[in-house]
Amino acid sequence: MTLGNMENVEVFDTEGKGRGLRAAKELCAGEVVFAEPSFAAVVFDSLSAQVCHSCFRRQEKLHRCGQCRFAQYCNRTCQRACWEEHKQECGAIKNYGKAPNENIRLAARILWRIGKDGGLVSDGQLTTLDELEDHMADMPEEDLKELKIDVHNFLDYWPRGSRQYNVDCISHIFGVINCNGFTLSDQRGLQAVGVGIFPNLCLVNHDCWPNCTVILNHGNQTALNSVYHSQRRIELRALGKIAKGEELTVGYVDFLNVSTDRQRLLKQQYFFDCTCEHCTNHSKDDLMMATKEVDGKEPSESVVKEVTEYSLKALEKIEKARTEGNYHEVVKLCREALEKQDPVLADTHLLHLRILSVASEVLSYLKFFKEAAGYAHRMVEGYKKLYHANNAQLGMATMRSGVTHWHAGLIEDGHSMICKAYAILMITHGPSHAITKDLEAMRMQTEMELRMFKQNEYVYHTMREAALKNQPVSMMTEPIEDGIKEMFRKK
Ligand SMILES: [Zn+2]
Ligand SMILES: [Zn+2]
Ligand SMILES: [Zn+2]
Repeated sequence: MTLGNMENVEVFDTEGKGRGLRAAKELCAGEVVFAEPSFAAVVFDSLSAQVCHSCFRRQEKLHRCGQCRFAQYCNRTCQRACWEEHKQECGAIKNYGKAPNENIRLAARILWRIGKDGGLVSDGQLTTLDELEDHMADMPEEDLKELKIDVHNFLDYWPRGSRQYNVDCISHIFGVINCNGFTLSDQRGLQAVGVGIFPNLCLVNHDCWPNCTVILNHGNQTALNSVYHSQRRIELRALGKIAKGEELTVGYVDFLNVSTDRQRLLKQQYFFDCTCEHCTNHSKDDLMMATKEVDGKEPSESVVKEVTEYSLKALEKIEKARTEGNYHEVVKLCREALEKQDPVLADTHLLHLRILSVASEVLSYLKFFKEAAGYAHRMVEGYKKLYHANNAQLGMATMRSGVTHWHAGLIEDGHSMICKAYAILMITHGPSHAITKDLEAMRMQTEMELRMFKQNEYVYHTMREAALKNQPVSMMTEPIEDGIKEMFRKK
């Protein structure tokens, strides 16, 4: 499909949620409902020297823009592709003496783009930025103060020679960024690296059990060389069959929170009260807080309370040790917590799942694959009972678990999980996404190894051990923050 092609959708007035998008025809699972290039985007301040400012890939070696000495690129191709976008910014940074924060950089890029191309940059764009909500009236005092500081600094940064805008107009842009800034991930979808604005996506309302998912596709190198902006394209993808006329929705927050917590998060960040079916019926809340029956008996309330408090404290300590890179401490804390939780909390209990997730991730990183695989398995089993069958988080967790099993030499489970993850990611990410391609390669590799295993287990294990010794484990990057579960950038 071509960029900006919006024939699958139409804008309509929802009851109580403002404007929304609905399907203009029947859609099937994995179908790209629409693709949209970013109107504007910037790399986070904290990663400005580690991520290419043009294609948003993480790179070992980047080349600095000789003019402003701020922007960094993979190579000349990326630099050239981005020049149109960076040109005015480059001069402004030079004059200002430094790069302002990411919000200000993004607001400026938006206004330069509007100045150059107007508020509507393609036929497929269904809304102008003027028409988007800024929720300034709902913002808490503190945030409003911060916004005013940003506007103030923006005015210092904004060149005299560029078209001038009044304070209300600039504030509106900051308000839009605040509630609609979409998190851009690196090429593997593993780390949040920047923030961008996609106007059509802003029209898609939230549902805790959505019928669509949104994914950033960095495209391939050839597309990158030829098409301006094509490298930062989101795709809205259908998670299942959607009837003509049905509203299209995505999940702004991770489903793995009990309904009252999701409602609180949504209210805080997006200023609305979620009245979706899952929130109204508190669906799956019972599973997310479920305790374990031992010999037909539920644990007492006081025991549950004690374990819950213990787990929350443990998670704080674990987070701290993880940020400090003290992974052996993380493992020790996880093992202790699991021992406490095991007799009391069910495998779908959120606090149990959080510990299982960290434990399996960090143990994998430390190459204790067997123990990691056991935890990963339980985590995925829990996720399967909670998430939509085609949820992207479930797909990613299944992939991690599959890789861990594979590395642990548990080739049958490993291969089967990698196949399951591949099936989910074909829908949520599509066949051209870098991570789906990785999975495809792993699927073939594990299939071959499985055949070998079935012929001769001894030879298989000898070969596997040798391979692990010689090869850096590519999928097991250092454990970073808890993946990307929030669709829009968290403040
Ligand atoms: Zn690049
Ligand atoms: Zn520059
Ligand atoms: Zn909800």
